[in-house]
Amino acid sequence: MRTPLIAGNWKMYKTPEEGVDLVRGLIEQTKDVKDVEILVCPPFPCLAAVGEALSGSSIRLGAQNLYPKAEGAYTGEVSAGMLKALGCSYVILGHSERRMYFFETDAFIREKTDAALDAGLIPIICVGESLEEREQGRTFDRVGYQMDRAVQGMSPDRAKNVVIAYEPIWAIGTGKTATDEQAQEVHAFIREKLSVHHGKEVAEAIRILYGGSVKPANAAGLMSRPDIDGGLVGGASLKADSFAGIVNYK
Ligand code: PEP
Repeated sequence: MRTPLIAGNWKMYKTPEEGVDLVRGLIEQTKDVKDVEILVCPPFPCLAAVGEALSGSSIRLGAQNLYPKAEGAYTGEVSAGMLKALGCSYVILGHSERRMYFFETDAFIREKTDAALDAGLIPIICVGESLEEREQGRTFDRVGYQMDRAVQGMSPDRAKNVVIAYEPIWAIGTGKTATDEQAQEVHAFIREKLSVHHGKEVAEAIRILYGGSVKPANAAGLMSRPDIDGGLVGGASLKADSFAGIVNYK
């Protein structure tokens, strides 16, 4: 059985003080939640303060990016080891905003994935098609291409530690959610890809999250689908009420 994971991507929002306020509310509003793993991924400057505020709670801490070198003259960058030392257990990689604004390639995302795994961080690898690709019937080509580059040649032992997030770009921050059927169809395709690369057992163990305008009103429908194992939540993770509403989907 896969434990559902609900992850909040705070993007470039929240000061440390605001972040601490948010997680205090979240701790309070999720204290009765069972069998769902909760994760918050604040911006780098918030990690220490939010990590401290989370101590003693079961909510996990994650980052939104890393640089795939252990250390060195890489001004402005942050390593996997540094994130681990701050108490992070997850890192979001290959988000479409990073692919779009920072020109991240699948090869570079794979380097980051390997660096995360080497440091004992769980990578949440984001894949997803644009609106144009969906309209042209190229969703499976696009997601298949990204998936192949994300995991090919990875040992099954390493692969079972990754999380995949299917995030159709047209659904991110737009209020347009993929229907439960559209999402399930792509999730099943991703699991099949994982099975081709790593075998059925490993594929069945890997969590595949859906991301794209998840909110309390649509969470239960999405999460009830057999291959949807949680959500990567942007906008709705910025308020304790709405994020807790998603976490409490059951
Ligand atoms: C995201 O940033 O990963 C995301 C899915 O954003 P939103 O929930 O706002 O669509």
